Order: sequence, then structure tokens, then C-alpha cells
Amino acid sequence: MSHYVKFTYQRAPADIAPFDALVELNECRRKLLELRLIGVDSNGVGFGNLSVRDGSTASFYITGSATGGLPELTPTDYVRVVAYDFARNWLRYEGATIPSSESLTHAAIYESDPSTFAVIHCHDSNLWRTLLDRVPTSSKAVAYGTAEMAYEIMRLFTGSDVRSRQIFVMAGHEGGIVAFGKNLEQAFDVLMRERK
Ligand SMILES: [Zn+2]
Repeated sequence: MSHYVKFTYQRAPADIAPFDALVELNECRRKLLELRLIGVDSNGVGFGNLSVRDGSTASFYITGSATGGLPELTPTDYVRVVAYDFARNWLRYEGATIPSSESLTHAAIYESDPSTFAVIHCHDSNLWRTLLDRVPTSSKAVAYGTAEMAYEIMRLFTGSDVRSRQIFVMAGHEGGIVAFGKNLEQAFDVLMRERK
């Protein structure tokens, strides 16, 4: 069990094959690394995670836990989340590594918005402070990577304009920002628009 991951999981007896979105994922990660929106924190822990929906299914590819600082990811650094259950704080995946601690957060976005095909979770303390309560903001009482966060995100989708803003901040996770879109490029552009 990883220190960072708060859910329980079950690994399906399958590795993932190279997938189409891998090039796009690495391209986007390079830009995010350069801007230090993903990377390694002062404790040596990788932060930031990206995912893309697998076609039009409910499954998605997501970066492995604590891979934030790695310059280039291979299929062994990703997993495919194929099932999850918020109520049980549980997920099932294929792949060689442990799914990102924010996997249920990503799942809640894909479930809430069928037109979302890519999600970026990054850290930026300045931007976070600027956006706090100015864009949809999850409750300060809700910690990252929990089932409560998944429910909180679904609440934002029904009770705020997060669907059109395509970005929210996590008040209970300092620096934590999530942007999403119909592809990674669009999610990245949403972030850049807010950083101006
Ligand atoms: Zn985070």
C-alpha cells in the first residue's frame, strides 16, 4: 500500500498495452513540468496527475502514484482504471503500478460530465490563492483523494458552473487545482487562461 493512496484497490490480472493517448499525455506533461505545475515537492514526493478517458467508455488511463517528477512516462507508469465504487472508496485497475491518489477525483469528473475526455490535477500555490472561491471550490473540510472528494465534485457539477468553467480548486488541498476538457490540450489551455 502506498503512503499517499487513501483508497483500497484491486489489480486486474492484466498489464496495459501502449495506448494512443500516450504521446499526447507525455507532451502535456512536458509543458506542465516546465511550468512546475507538476513535479516533486520539497519532501521529494511527486505531485500532479493526468488522465484521459478510454474512448467513450467509463474507464480511463491515469498516471501512477507519485510519478509527478518523472520526465517521461512509459505504459508501465500508467494504469487503466476499469471500475470504482465511491461508497466503498475502492477501485479496480489494470497496469503495473499503483494508480494516482487522485484517481477517484478523476473518476467523479468523468462520471459527472460525459463530454470530458481529459483531466489535469496540478499544484500552483499562487494561482490557487487567486482562484480560491473565485472559481468553483471544493469544501475546505474535504481532503484530497477521498471518497468525500468524489462526492464533493459531483456536488460542484450540480451546484456550480464548473461544467462551463472547466476548472475548480480544492480548498482542503493547498495548491490543488483541477482543469478538464474534451482533450488534454483544452484542459491545459484552461489552466493557461487562468494563469494570465
Ligand atoms: Zn494534489
